[in-house]
Amino acid sequence: MENLDVLIPRPQSIVAAPGVVKVESLGSVSTPQGCERFGGELIRNAGVLGLDLTQEGVPVKMILSSEIKVESFEITITPDEVTIAGGDPAGLFYGKGAFEQLLCIAVIKGTRGSEIPCGKVSDSPRFGYRGFMLDSARHIQSVDTVKKVLALMAKLRLNVFHWHLCDSQGFRSESKLFPELNTLAGMTPGYYTAAEIKEICDFAAEHFITVIPEIEMPGHSKGLLALHPELACDPENPGKEFCLAKKEVREFLEKLITEFVGLFPASKIIHLGGDEANTEHWDKCPACQKLMKDKGLSDIRQLENDFMNDMAAFVRSLGVTPVTWFTGSIMEESTIIQVWRSIWELKETLSHGNRMIFSVHDQLYLDYPCTAAEPFENWMPVLCESGVYNTEPFAAWEEEIGDLLLGPETCLWTETVPDHRVMAKLMPRLVAFSETAWCPIAQKDWFSYTKRKDVLTAGGWFEMEAL
Ligand SMILES: [Zn+2]
Repeated sequence: MENLDVLIPRPQSIVAAPGVVKVESLGSVSTPQGCERFGGELIRNAGVLGLDLTQEGVPVKMILSSEIKVESFEITITPDEVTIAGGDPAGLFYGKGAFEQLLCIAVIKGTRGSEIPCGKVSDSPRFGYRGFMLDSARHIQSVDTVKKVLALMAKLRLNVFHWHLCDSQGFRSESKLFPELNTLAGMTPGYYTAAEIKEICDFAAEHFITVIPEIEMPGHSKGLLALHPELACDPENPGKEFCLAKKEVREFLEKLITEFVGLFPASKIIHLGGDEANTEHWDKCPACQKLMKDKGLSDIRQLENDFMNDMAAFVRSLGVTPVTWFTGSIMEESTIIQVWRSIWELKETLSHGNRMIFSVHDQLYLDYPCTAAEPFENWMPVLCESGVYNTEPFAAWEEEIGDLLLGPETCLWTETVPDHRVMAKLMPRLVAFSETAWCPIAQKDWFSYTKRKDVLTAGGWFEMEAL
């Protein structure tokens, strides 16, 4: 290995120093209190690479330091010692992962005589929110696939898993109150039991990933309304939108949301959907029209917005922050909005003070084909790896937006993506996205990225199971 500029995501600072450390001489791993498992993980992963870090050797010290920011780390390599320092356990976890990348590249031709150059790597994320959304409503994925996705996210230092669990085709979180919802078959039958959800959430937490589960309303609810036509404007022709006026709808949704929130005790943010509702049923519904007039509203979209604000207020009453997809209507300020239709909406929403997640479809939707050769989504625009890498529309407004922009999130919708194709859709674009989410603009460089990715790919790092 010639230098330390081999990591993904690319570090903010690399300072070279004279000398090398022989990787076969490393050992004597130590960890701070409360982070003992990182030692076991490092020893196990080094073992996969053919190294024995259980031996007495040049010490690898992991420490926590109050002088380093959260999620940030410093790796100092000298011939006599390696120190991995984290600002918090998440930072130490990422530092350990970065050091494992260095080991993986160092032993690319075998362990004998392999060395890592001395120096110091310091790194810190650009955004505190680095998200990936998986649609488990259209095609459901096995628990193993979801864990594989989470493990890859952790390797790439992505820290928010937005889990799209409910849509017209499926209701994938177990409901004991309304078990009929779990009979929806969508493109594939199935749902996640409460125990499986806990298993996935625990796995995410171990990898410093926050889970934001999503339940959809008032649209995208065709399957649910076929089972509960009394909640639609016209029970004879229920369609896919809840009636905005019936009090039974609110009672039903409040029970359902309460149960849903209870399945995710660690999630302090819940996504309420809110996108792509059609007004056709509301326009013809006497109850919706009457409520609109009673409230003094002139547009049915305002009634929809009222409904969503009420649901968001209910979520807040449970101690959870709501997120909604941005549809052009302004949500109450404490609701986080996810901008997906156009980069201009980022600017448009700025004056309203809502915090934002950036997911504009033509730059961050991974169901779009990666190359024109992908034959199965040929009506969609192509979104190639460099397109994801070079997504920087927020750069021009970053100062103006400030803390209101939580960060970017890339999304995989699965209408045409069965379980076995999920990882193929993510690679390599999720890797490119990791630098968009983690690296300051000055650190990003497409040619450097492809070189680093090629070396890590050749080294087998992406396939390494253990973490
Ligand atoms: Zn109605």
